[in-house]
Amino acid sequence: MVLAVLLLLMTAALPLCAQNPPQREIAITIDDLPAASANSMTGTEIVEMTAKLLGTLRDQKVPAVGFVNEKKLYKFGEVDDRIKALSMWGDYGFELGNHTFSHASLNRVTLKQWEEDVIRGETVTSLLLAQHNMKMRYLRHPYLDTGRDLETRREAEAFLVDRGYRIAPVTMDAWDWMYAGVYEDARRRGDTALQQQLVSSYLSYTGAVFDYYEKFSKDLIGYEPKQILLLHGNWLEADHIGELLDVLRKRGYRFVTLQDALSDAAYSMPDEYVGEEGTGWIDHWAITRGQAPRNTPVFPQWVIDRSNALPHRPTQP
Ligand SMILES: [Zn+2]
Repeated sequence: MVLAVLLLLMTAALPLCAQNPPQREIAITIDDLPAASANSMTGTEIVEMTAKLLGTLRDQKVPAVGFVNEKKLYKFGEVDDRIKALSMWGDYGFELGNHTFSHASLNRVTLKQWEEDVIRGETVTSLLLAQHNMKMRYLRHPYLDTGRDLETRREAEAFLVDRGYRIAPVTMDAWDWMYAGVYEDARRRGDTALQQQLVSSYLSYTGAVFDYYEKFSKDLIGYEPKQILLLHGNWLEADHIGELLDVLRKRGYRFVTLQDALSDAAYSMPDEYVGEEGTGWIDHWAITRGQAPRNTPVFPQWVIDRSNALPHRPTQP
């Protein structure tokens, strides 16, 4: 009896999170393949980076979908290596989707040009998927631009459905691309102190983004949907995705396929968002309901400054 009371007291003293770990789910997506900065990398380096990234995901049994810009395959004398890097996705047990051929923004080109860019982006990826008995079924909008007006947005959606696509939304985005340029530059120069500084800033900003959107979605729709995280094919992720996965596990996340995440009813909610600036789907739902997002996490300015100072400044992907 005394023991039972003691146990009861001990349990009551535990923090709430330890008693009741939240059951959260998230799908990982990785854009701008074969590599975000493919232009400044050799084919061999892209293969090496891909092996490291996919090795961690495979070892930890974390599903992922990679989104391809096939334009990046066509570098003279390096096409084979670049296609090899892409084909590793299927060989390691992962799926590929379309991110358009040239990373064209639906807000910047005509609908017709954009549709052609979607079709052109299918050529090699479809062949690689077929080798694993898969078909291309996901499209991720470049820059998350879904159209400058509702008519364009709806016409593009109808076109995508006709071609057998499901749109891959994003709910979590910690701007790894903004870190990646500075990280890759530091990596090339062997500046390990700066690399470490960037990694810890990235992981802590990720925490801030998750804090914000977990709460925001709860306030907005009454629960936390199965989340979809946007990452990019870069050395920051290849070297450190294991630490990122640990951060998410500590928050109570379990890793699910994109297909599983999309089964969440949240992704069928009304969404009339039009606009730009890489706005994610939780913001889409809020804006559709006339609730502008407020007090969003502030991205560390020093990383933006260092990124702007690079000779080849990365643009938002
Ligand atoms: Zn992109």
